[in-house]
This record gives sequence, structure tokens and C-alpha cells, in this order.
Amino acid sequence: MDIPFVDLRAQYARLRGEIDTRIRAVLDHGRYILGPEVAELEQKLAAFAGCRHGIGVSSGTDALLVALLAEGIGGGDALFVPAFTFPATPAAILLAGATPVFVDVSVDSFHIDAAALQRSIRIVADRGALRPRAVIAVDLFGLTADYDALTPIAAEHELFLLADAAQSFGAAWNGRRVGSLAPVTALSFYPSKPLGCYGDGGAILTDDDARAALIHSIREHGRGIERYAIERIGINGRLDTLQAAVLLAKLGVFEEELAQRQRLAGIYDEHLKDIVSIPPRPPAARPAWAQYSILSDHRDAIAAALRKEGLPCAIHYPAPLHLQPAFARFGGGAGTLPAAEALSRRILSLPMHAYMAEDTALRICDAVRRGARSTSQRR
Ligand SMILES: *Cc1c(COP(=O)(O)O)cnc(C)c1O
Repeated sequence: MDIPFVDLRAQYARLRGEIDTRIRAVLDHGRYILGPEVAELEQKLAAFAGCRHGIGVSSGTDALLVALLAEGIGGGDALFVPAFTFPATPAAILLAGATPVFVDVSVDSFHIDAAALQRSIRIVADRGALRPRAVIAVDLFGLTADYDALTPIAAEHELFLLADAAQSFGAAWNGRRVGSLAPVTALSFYPSKPLGCYGDGGAILTDDDARAALIHSIREHGRGIERYAIERIGINGRLDTLQAAVLLAKLGVFEEELAQRQRLAGIYDEHLKDIVSIPPRPPAARPAWAQYSILSDHRDAIAAALRKEGLPCAIHYPAPLHLQPAFARFGGGAGTLPAAEALSRRILSLPMHAYMAEDTALRICDAVRRGARSTSQRR
């Protein structure tokens, strides 16, 4: 039997009744764009996160783009982003017409490094060619970024702080949930994210009424209160009603799934902590466990040992963004962001989802241990 990296079929088997009923209701009422399920989901997402507004959008990438457009970000603006993230984070900056400035991460947290960020802001400000305008913090692998450190830095330099929470919906920090940690938060519902739909989808969370109104307008072609009173440049950035229906069904078991992910992370921690670096988990954090990513100098041997047993794994991400061809001209080249570069050489993500049997988790741990030992003995 195939062991999946993320088991969406087991989840569907459990939720089939609820999901099918929700989808059929949409087919019956026929309001495929901004139907009632979208509004229902938006209200439930905001309630879950503890913020005033949830606005459904077409993907996580569009959530970032719409949030930036709503802020009036564009040409001449410098936006600071971690170099170790998914490519959509800097791509959204360039699609908005602004310039990404890659900042190194901390090897201990995988997040943007606060001291490196401060240095980077000063350098850009002193150079004067671009205006420091925003920081996009990324809650990598489902662990919230260090908003306690980033919020005062953003305030000091009058920067907009956007949370790329594509991987972290459901996570919390000191009891505060994702959606209430930054002024604006972008979510993705790509199928393999902790809360995923059956296609592309996303949402933006905010407490700010004025920003929410702009986001509503921009996700729908820049419309005003009247549909054809076009007040600004917008995009087709709406969430489909069918995807909202799927998400409503899944939201009902989301808390329980988060607990199952947490349980699996605990099993991995217990059986792997003496042989590889296990993921960071500060005491105040409740991660959403989008990924369980280990660090090892024997990463490739571990991946080979897993594959030999038919067990999947993945590398998030094989290269930091300042070394990717599309973004290289915004970075300083190899050696300039050493932590991001080291992570990309050592990181490996293990299968992570709410439906894994304990014996499968133990098989994965055994294979990781075998892989790690196979090279240490040879060396
Ligand atoms: C998945 C992801 C995105 C993009 O989300 P899509 O819904 O695939 O567009 C953005 N940022 C991060 C960190 C992601 O993991």
C-alpha cells in the first residue's frame, strides 16, 4: 500500500457525508461565485482566528497580492522577506510592482532573523533608491514567526507588517491565534495545507474595517458599492463557492485534526531527537504542523533510506530564493545569506497529516535512524 505524504483520501473517507452534502447544496442553489457558503466561511474563519474580518480569495498567492495592493504598495517600495520561504511570497511583491529585499533567517527558528532585518532596513534606507515599506513575515511550516520582535521593528520604521500564514492557520502564540498576531494575515487553502480545499483557495484576515473594505473591492475588480462603479484597479481574486463549501465541512474537524498533527509531531520528536535536529518549538507556540522538517548533515542518506522503504519525504526548499534564477537579481549571490543556504542543504520534511497510523510513524522513524546511521558509520 502506498504511504502518502499528506493523506487527503483518508480525510475524505471520514468526511464524505458532510462534504458531499455541502457540495450538493451549492449545485442546487447554483450561486457559484460569492454564494452564501463564502460569507458563512468568512464569518467562521474570523471567529476561529479571533479577528473582525475574514475575506475569501482565490489562493494564498492572491491573498498576499491583494493585501499588498490594498496597502497601496507598488513601484519604488522595498519589502523585506525571508530568503527561505515558498516562491509565492517574493513573487507577490514583484507582481505588485515593488522590490523584494531578501533577509537571512535564523537556523534555530527557520524564521526571518530580527537583527538581520534591522540591518537590512537601515541599508536600504541609507542607500535611498527604494523606500522601506513593509515586512512579510512567514510562519514557516506552521510555526508562527516572532511577531513579538517584528511588531516593534515594523512600528519603529513605519513598515506594514503582513503575515504570510499560508502554512499556519490554526497555529497560536501565547494563546493568540494566527489572524490576530499581525495587522493583516494571508492564508492559503491549497489542498495540502493544514486546512485545504479541493482546488485553489485562500483568505485574508484583519481587524481593520478600512483595510477590509479595500480588500473586498480589490478581490472583485476594484468595484465600489455598485458593481460597475470601478474605483481602483483590482483582480479576479474571489474564493469559489464550491471551495468554501468544502472548507466549511473540514472546519468542523479542524481542531481535532490539529491535535492529531500535534500527536504525530510528538511521536517524531520522541524517536528522532537524539539523531537529527527536530523542529523548533518554543514553549509559547502551538504550531499547526504544516510540515515536520528535520535538519541533518545526512539528509540525502535519510531521504534514500525512506524511499527504499516506499516512505515519502520532501525537501522544503532545495534552494533559498536569492539563489533561484527568477529572484537572483534581487540578492547578493551565494554566501550572502548563510543560514538560508545551510537550511536548504540540511532540511527534510517527513510525512505529516492527521490520519497517520502510529505504526507507520514508527516505521518512518526507523528509516530515518537507519539513514542517519548509514553515513555516520562510513565517515
Ligand atoms: C502555499 C504557500 C503560498 C501560496 O499559496 P497558494 O494557495 O498555493 O497560492 C504562499 N506562501 C507560503 C509560505 C506558502 O506555503
